[in-house]
Amino acid sequence: MIPFLDLGDSYRELKPQIDAAVRRVLEGGWYILGPEVDAFEAEWAEYCGAKHSVGVANGLDALVLALRALDIGAGDEVIVPSNTFIATWLAVSTVGATPVSVEPDAATHNINPSQIEAAITSRTRAIMPVHLYGQPADLDPILDIARRHGLRVIEDAAQAHGARYKGRRIGAHGDIACWSFYPGKNLGALGDGGAITTDNPALAERVALLRNYGSRQKYVNEEKGINSRLDPIQAAILRAKLPYLDEWTERRRAVARIYSETLQDIGLTLPHVPQWAEPVWHLFVVRAPARDALQGRLADAGIGTSIHYPIPPHRQGAYRDLAPTLPPSPLAERLADEVLSLPIGPHIDREQLAAVVEAVKRACAN
Ligand SMILES: *Cc1c(COP(=O)(O)O)cnc(C)c1O
Repeated sequence: MIPFLDLGDSYRELKPQIDAAVRRVLEGGWYILGPEVDAFEAEWAEYCGAKHSVGVANGLDALVLALRALDIGAGDEVIVPSNTFIATWLAVSTVGATPVSVEPDAATHNINPSQIEAAITSRTRAIMPVHLYGQPADLDPILDIARRHGLRVIEDAAQAHGARYKGRRIGAHGDIACWSFYPGKNLGALGDGGAITTDNPALAERVALLRNYGSRQKYVNEEKGINSRLDPIQAAILRAKLPYLDEWTERRRAVARIYSETLQDIGLTLPHVPQWAEPVWHLFVVRAPARDALQGRLADAGIGTSIHYPIPPHRQGAYRDLAPTLPPSPLAERLADEVLSLPIGPHIDREQLAAVVEAVKRACAN
């Protein structure tokens, strides 16, 4: 049996470092914000090539607080991809704004910049590209459109830890980038966690205020904030893991290289990497016309796979109210029917990888 992902693997590899980090917090006696969170914020900002980072409770809150810090809310529209995890849309809805969807590029599955301008109205305030599967969206045309129309760019970077666009790490290309450290992400906590990165000091300060009851000084509340603080135990765990992120990304790249070389010409559409992208392979997503049958055969062979994502946001019950007003998204619907994520991660060994490749080839042959 080869699981799609075993979340215990990263703990087992770094047990001494992680145990020491947790013990440091427990013995330090500082359990909300404080030195571990400050240190992680500084280290994460530096890793991302951004001037500032602010830790929050999870990736969804990072998106919500980025929108609130930019004063985006009721009556506003935000452009989002039709093909994404629902959190991107939910963040927009949570602040009272309306998500307006744009279809992906068929080759990369990321938002198609050439279709963004047609979705802009007098109410549009921001564009929210997602660096899906760990592959950067095509940011330059998006930033250019934003500049010409006076819009903000909020990057959903929840799958893109360490990915580079035109040689520069994701983190401060747009106005603000939003991160999740959900355990299954490329840099994952052992619980929930999130952060924003930005080069804009005023935006960083506003998120820092909003995540902590709108308070800079205890019991002085400047605005209506929320409680969305990064837990110091999780910050310490993330600090223990961060020095290994690049090595783990290289191991993901080695897996992706083997899949890309060995799974050609068997009826699957393999991931396309534009020449300006250095993806970090959060997921390795293939397209198969008979996806469900393929997934079933792989399950029979003991290979775990997953689907990212089986139902696009506009088809979810959560958006039944908005659905009639949304533009059609046939490509997002087609991708939902055809995508399949193969096992990938820093802890798949050569034998497991060979077994997956053989099973996929066999499943595609009949
Ligand atoms: C994981 C993820 C999120 C949300 O992160 P949480 O920490 O689970 O709230 C947002 N957007 C995308 C694209 C994600 O993959």
